[in-house]
Amino acid sequence: MSDEKTGRLAGKVAVVTGAGSGIGRATALLFAREGARVVCADISGKEKEVVAEIGDTAVAVHVDVSRNDDVARMIETAEREFGGLDVLFNNAGFGGPRRPLADFDEQIFDDVVAVNLKGVFLGMRHGIAAMLRSGGGSVINTASVAGLVGLKHQAVYAAAKGGVVQLTRTAALDYATQGVRVNAICPGMIWTGLAGGEPGSTPPADLIPPQPMKRWGMPEELAAAALFLASDESSFVTGTLLPVDGGYTAR
Ligand code: NAD
Repeated sequence: MSDEKTGRLAGKVAVVTGAGSGIGRATALLFAREGARVVCADISGKEKEVVAEIGDTAVAVHVDVSRNDDVARMIETAEREFGGLDVLFNNAGFGGPRRPLADFDEQIFDDVVAVNLKGVFLGMRHGIAAMLRSGGGSVINTASVAGLVGLKHQAVYAAAKGGVVQLTRTAALDYATQGVRVNAICPGMIWTGLAGGEPGSTPPADLIPPQPMKRWGMPEELAAAALFLASDESSFVTGTLLPVDGGYTAR
Protein backbone atom coordinates (compact mmCIF):
# COMPACT_ATOMS: atom_id res chain seq x y z
CA MET A 1 0.00 0.00 0.00
CA SER A 2 2.64 2.54 0.98
CA ASP A 3 5.86 3.58 -0.69
CA GLU A 4 8.31 4.71 1.96
CA LYS A 5 10.49 6.53 -0.59
CA THR A 6 7.84 9.08 -1.59
CA GLY A 7 5.16 11.12 0.11
CA ARG A 8 4.93 13.90 2.67
CA LEU A 9 6.19 11.58 5.44
CA ALA A 10 8.80 9.74 3.39
CA GLY A 11 11.39 8.07 5.62
CA LYS A 12 9.59 8.91 8.85
CA VAL A 13 8.54 6.55 11.63
CA ALA A 14 5.19 7.27 13.30
CA VAL A 15 3.31 5.91 16.30
CA VAL A 16 -0.47 6.33 16.27
CA THR A 17 -2.56 5.52 19.35
CA GLY A 18 -6.23 4.71 19.03
CA ALA A 19 -5.27 3.43 15.57
CA GLY A 20 -7.99 0.78 15.49
CA SER A 21 -10.88 3.16 14.91
CA GLY A 22 -12.06 6.62 13.88
CA ILE A 23 -9.51 9.43 13.74
CA GLY A 24 -6.56 7.19 14.63
CA ARG A 25 -7.41 4.62 11.97
CA ALA A 26 -7.83 7.27 9.25
CA THR A 27 -4.55 8.88 10.31
CA ALA A 28 -2.57 5.63 10.39
CA LEU A 29 -3.80 4.82 6.86
CA LEU A 30 -2.97 8.33 5.60
CA PHE A 31 0.47 8.41 7.25
CA ALA A 32 1.27 5.06 5.62
CA ARG A 33 0.09 6.31 2.21
CA GLU A 34 2.38 9.32 2.67
CA GLY A 35 5.42 7.10 3.15
CA ALA A 36 5.69 6.67 6.93
CA ARG A 37 6.32 3.39 8.66
CA VAL A 38 3.61 3.19 11.29
CA VAL A 39 3.22 1.58 14.71
CA CYS A 40 -0.54 1.14 15.15
CA ALA A 41 -1.45 0.99 18.85
CA ASP A 42 -4.83 0.30 20.41
CA ILE A 43 -6.52 -1.59 23.22
CA SER A 44 -9.31 -2.93 21.01
CA GLY A 45 -7.48 -5.50 18.88
CA LYS A 46 -8.65 -3.63 15.75
CA GLU A 47 -5.13 -2.24 15.30
CA LYS A 48 -4.28 -5.59 13.70
CA GLU A 49 -6.90 -5.05 10.98
CA VAL A 50 -5.44 -1.65 10.17
CA VAL A 51 -1.94 -3.12 9.95
CA ALA A 52 -3.26 -5.85 7.64
CA GLU A 53 -4.68 -3.10 5.42
CA ILE A 54 -1.38 -1.17 5.34
CA GLY A 55 0.99 -4.10 4.84
CA ASP A 56 4.57 -4.64 5.93
CA THR A 57 5.35 -0.98 6.64
CA ALA A 58 3.19 -1.15 9.78
CA VAL A 59 3.20 -3.13 13.01
CA ALA A 60 0.44 -3.56 15.59
CA VAL A 61 0.93 -3.07 19.33
CA HIS A 62 -1.74 -3.91 21.86
CA VAL A 63 -1.60 -1.19 24.54
CA ASP A 64 -3.53 0.49 27.26
CA VAL A 65 -2.20 4.05 27.00
CA SER A 66 -2.91 4.64 30.68
CA ARG A 67 -0.26 2.06 31.65
CA ASN A 68 3.34 3.19 31.76
CA ASP A 69 4.84 -0.19 30.82
CA ASP A 70 2.54 -0.54 27.80
CA VAL A 71 3.47 2.91 26.52
CA ALA A 72 7.18 2.26 27.03
CA ARG A 73 6.83 -0.97 25.02
CA MET A 74 4.96 0.89 22.26
CA ILE A 75 7.76 3.41 21.81
CA GLU A 76 10.44 0.69 22.06
CA THR A 77 8.64 -1.14 19.25
CA ALA A 78 9.07 1.85 16.95
CA GLU A 79 12.77 2.05 17.74
CA ARG A 80 13.36 -1.70 17.44
CA GLU A 81 11.28 -2.35 14.30
CA PHE A 82 11.87 0.88 12.38
CA GLY A 83 15.00 2.45 13.92
CA GLY A 84 13.65 5.53 15.73
CA LEU A 85 10.67 7.80 16.19
CA ASP A 86 9.77 10.94 14.20
CA VAL A 87 6.03 11.36 14.74
CA LEU A 88 3.85 10.54 17.73
CA PHE A 89 0.07 10.93 17.47
CA ASN A 90 -1.33 10.68 21.01
CA ASN A 91 -4.92 10.17 19.99
CA ALA A 92 -6.49 7.33 22.00
CA GLY A 93 -9.37 8.48 24.16
CA PHE A 94 -13.03 8.17 25.00
CA GLY A 95 -15.79 10.52 26.09
CA GLY A 96 -17.28 8.86 29.15
CA PRO A 97 -20.77 9.55 30.43
CA ARG A 98 -22.46 12.98 30.28
CA ARG A 99 -24.14 14.41 33.37
CA PRO A 100 -24.02 17.40 35.75
CA LEU A 101 -20.73 17.62 37.60
CA ALA A 102 -21.99 16.56 41.04
CA ASP A 103 -23.31 13.32 39.53
CA PHE A 104 -19.89 12.08 38.43
CA ASP A 105 -18.41 9.53 40.82
CA GLU A 106 -14.73 9.23 41.58
CA GLN A 107 -14.22 6.12 39.48
CA ILE A 108 -15.46 7.82 36.31
CA PHE A 109 -13.10 10.73 36.97
CA ASP A 110 -10.15 8.37 37.45
CA ASP A 111 -10.94 6.33 34.31
CA VAL A 112 -11.51 9.31 32.00
CA VAL A 113 -8.43 11.16 33.24
CA ALA A 114 -6.27 8.00 33.12
CA VAL A 115 -6.78 7.51 29.40
CA ASN A 116 -7.41 11.01 28.05
CA LEU A 117 -4.84 12.93 30.12
CA LYS A 118 -2.37 10.55 31.75
CA GLY A 119 -2.21 8.53 28.52
CA VAL A 120 -1.06 11.62 26.64
CA PHE A 121 1.48 12.45 29.35
CA LEU A 122 2.92 8.92 29.21
CA GLY A 123 3.08 9.00 25.42
CA MET A 124 4.92 12.30 25.48
CA ARG A 125 7.24 11.19 28.26
CA HIS A 126 8.48 8.11 26.42
CA GLY A 127 8.00 9.46 22.90
CA ILE A 128 9.90 12.71 23.38
CA ALA A 129 12.80 10.82 24.96
CA ALA A 130 12.94 8.64 21.82
CA MET A 131 12.73 11.67 19.52
CA LEU A 132 15.63 13.30 21.33
CA ARG A 133 17.62 10.10 20.72
CA SER A 134 16.85 10.20 16.98
CA GLY A 135 17.35 13.94 16.42
CA GLY A 136 13.88 15.46 16.91
CA GLY A 137 10.31 14.95 15.82
CA SER A 138 6.68 16.03 15.92
CA VAL A 139 4.16 15.22 18.65
CA ILE A 140 0.48 15.69 17.88
CA ASN A 141 -2.01 15.33 20.71
CA THR A 142 -5.74 14.92 20.18
CA ALA A 143 -7.43 17.39 22.50
CA SER A 144 -10.99 18.52 21.73
CA VAL A 145 -13.18 21.58 21.47
CA ALA A 146 -14.04 20.41 25.01
CA GLY A 147 -10.55 21.54 26.00
CA LEU A 148 -11.15 25.04 24.61
CA VAL A 149 -14.71 25.98 25.60
CA GLY A 150 -17.16 24.84 28.24
CA LEU A 151 -19.42 21.95 27.25
CA LYS A 152 -22.45 21.23 29.39
CA HIS A 153 -22.46 17.86 31.19
CA GLN A 154 -18.89 17.04 30.11
CA ALA A 155 -16.91 18.42 33.06
CA VAL A 156 -14.57 15.46 33.51
CA TYR A 157 -13.80 14.89 29.82
CA ALA A 158 -13.39 18.65 29.32
CA ALA A 159 -11.00 18.87 32.26
CA ALA A 160 -8.92 16.03 30.85
CA LYS A 161 -8.83 17.63 27.38
CA GLY A 162 -8.02 21.02 28.92
CA GLY A 163 -5.10 19.26 30.56
CA VAL A 164 -4.00 17.97 27.16
CA VAL A 165 -4.05 21.56 25.88
CA GLN A 166 -1.69 22.65 28.64
CA LEU A 167 0.59 19.61 28.31
CA THR A 168 0.89 20.57 24.65
CA ARG A 169 1.74 24.21 25.23
CA THR A 170 4.23 23.59 28.02
CA ALA A 171 6.04 20.74 26.27
CA ALA A 172 6.30 22.91 23.15
CA LEU A 173 8.22 25.44 25.24
CA ASP A 174 10.32 22.77 26.97
CA TYR A 175 11.66 21.37 23.66
CA ALA A 176 11.46 24.37 21.31
CA THR A 177 15.24 24.47 20.80
CA GLN A 178 15.73 20.71 20.63
CA GLY A 179 13.93 19.87 17.40
CA VAL A 180 10.78 18.47 18.99
CA ARG A 181 7.55 20.24 18.01
CA VAL A 182 4.38 19.66 20.03
CA ASN A 183 0.93 20.60 18.75
CA ALA A 184 -2.68 19.59 19.32
CA ILE A 185 -5.69 19.12 17.12
CA CYS A 186 -9.05 19.96 18.66
CA PRO A 187 -11.83 18.03 16.94
CA GLY A 188 -15.40 19.19 16.99
CA MET A 189 -18.13 16.58 16.50
CA ILE A 190 -16.62 13.91 14.27
CA TRP A 191 -18.41 10.88 12.84
CA THR A 192 -16.44 8.07 14.53
CA GLY A 193 -17.04 5.18 16.89
CA LEU A 194 -17.04 7.68 19.73
CA ALA A 195 -20.08 9.36 18.16
CA GLY A 196 -21.75 6.10 17.07
CA GLY A 197 -20.31 5.97 13.54
CA GLU A 198 -18.68 2.86 12.09
CA PRO A 199 -15.79 3.20 9.61
CA GLY A 200 -17.14 3.91 6.14
CA SER A 201 -20.64 4.78 7.38
CA THR A 202 -22.34 8.11 6.72
CA PRO A 203 -24.16 10.10 9.41
CA PRO A 204 -27.98 10.02 9.27
CA ALA A 205 -29.30 13.10 7.42
CA ASP A 206 -31.52 14.09 10.36
CA LEU A 207 -28.68 13.99 12.93
CA ILE A 208 -27.14 17.43 12.45
CA PRO A 209 -24.63 18.51 15.11
CA PRO A 210 -24.62 22.12 16.40
CA GLN A 211 -21.62 23.18 14.30
CA PRO A 212 -21.73 26.23 12.00
CA MET A 213 -21.05 24.04 8.95
CA LYS A 214 -24.16 22.04 9.95
CA ARG A 215 -22.54 18.67 9.37
CA TRP A 216 -20.32 16.12 11.08
CA GLY A 217 -16.60 16.19 10.56
CA MET A 218 -15.19 13.01 9.05
CA PRO A 219 -12.13 11.19 10.43
CA GLU A 220 -10.21 11.81 7.20
CA GLU A 221 -10.52 15.57 7.80
CA LEU A 222 -8.73 15.16 11.15
CA ALA A 223 -6.13 12.92 9.54
CA ALA A 224 -5.37 15.68 7.02
CA ALA A 225 -4.73 18.16 9.85
CA ALA A 226 -2.53 15.63 11.68
CA LEU A 227 -0.57 15.04 8.47
CA PHE A 228 0.25 18.74 8.17
CA LEU A 229 1.47 18.84 11.78
CA ALA A 230 3.43 15.60 11.34
CA SER A 231 5.18 16.70 8.15
CA ASP A 232 8.06 19.12 7.67
CA GLU A 233 5.56 21.55 6.08
CA SER A 234 4.79 22.66 9.66
CA SER A 235 8.45 23.05 10.63
CA PHE A 236 7.89 26.47 12.32
CA VAL A 237 4.65 25.43 14.06
CA THR A 238 4.79 24.44 17.71
CA GLY A 239 2.52 24.91 20.72
CA THR A 240 -0.52 25.47 18.54
CA LEU A 241 -4.05 24.21 19.14
CA LEU A 242 -5.74 23.58 15.83
CA PRO A 243 -9.54 23.38 15.97
CA VAL A 244 -10.95 21.11 13.26
CA ASP A 245 -14.53 21.76 14.15
CA GLY A 246 -16.58 23.23 11.30
CA GLY A 247 -16.40 26.62 13.02
CA TYR A 248 -17.69 25.50 16.43
CA THR A 249 -15.14 27.52 18.46
CA ALA A 250 -15.26 30.53 16.12
CA ARG A 251 -18.41 31.82 17.77
P1 NAD B 1 -13.05 6.10 18.37
O1 NAD B 1 -13.80 5.50 19.49
O2 NAD B 1 -13.47 5.78 16.98
O3 NAD B 1 -11.49 5.78 18.51
C1 NAD B 1 -10.82 5.83 19.73
C2 NAD B 1 -9.84 4.67 19.81
O4 NAD B 1 -9.09 4.79 21.04
C3 NAD B 1 -10.55 3.31 19.83
O5 NAD B 1 -10.01 2.46 18.84
C4 NAD B 1 -10.27 2.78 21.24
O6 NAD B 1 -10.15 1.38 21.32
C5 NAD B 1 -8.95 3.48 21.56
N1 NAD B 1 -8.71 3.52 23.01
C6 NAD B 1 -9.58 3.89 23.98
N2 NAD B 1 -9.02 3.74 25.17
C7 NAD B 1 -7.76 3.26 24.98
C8 NAD B 1 -6.69 2.91 25.83
N3 NAD B 1 -6.81 2.98 27.16
N4 NAD B 1 -5.54 2.49 25.28
C9 NAD B 1 -5.41 2.39 23.94
N5 NAD B 1 -6.39 2.71 23.06
C10 NAD B 1 -7.56 3.13 23.59
O7 NAD B 1 -13.14 7.67 18.61
P2 NAD B 1 -12.42 8.91 17.89
O8 NAD B 1 -13.45 9.93 17.74
O9 NAD B 1 -11.63 8.49 16.71
O10 NAD B 1 -11.47 9.37 19.08
C11 NAD B 1 -10.11 9.73 18.87
C12 NAD B 1 -9.79 10.91 19.75
O11 NAD B 1 -10.53 12.05 19.31
C13 NAD B 1 -10.11 10.74 21.22
O12 NAD B 1 -9.05 11.26 22.01
C14 NAD B 1 -11.35 11.57 21.42
O13 NAD B 1 -11.49 12.04 22.74
C15 NAD B 1 -11.08 12.69 20.42
N6 NAD B 1 -12.23 13.47 20.04
C16 NAD B 1 -13.24 12.90 19.31
C17 NAD B 1 -14.35 13.67 18.97
C18 NAD B 1 -15.50 13.10 18.15
O14 NAD B 1 -16.52 13.79 17.99
N7 NAD B 1 -15.40 11.89 17.62
C19 NAD B 1 -14.42 15.01 19.35
C20 NAD B 1 -13.37 15.55 20.08
C21 NAD B 1 -12.28 14.77 20.41
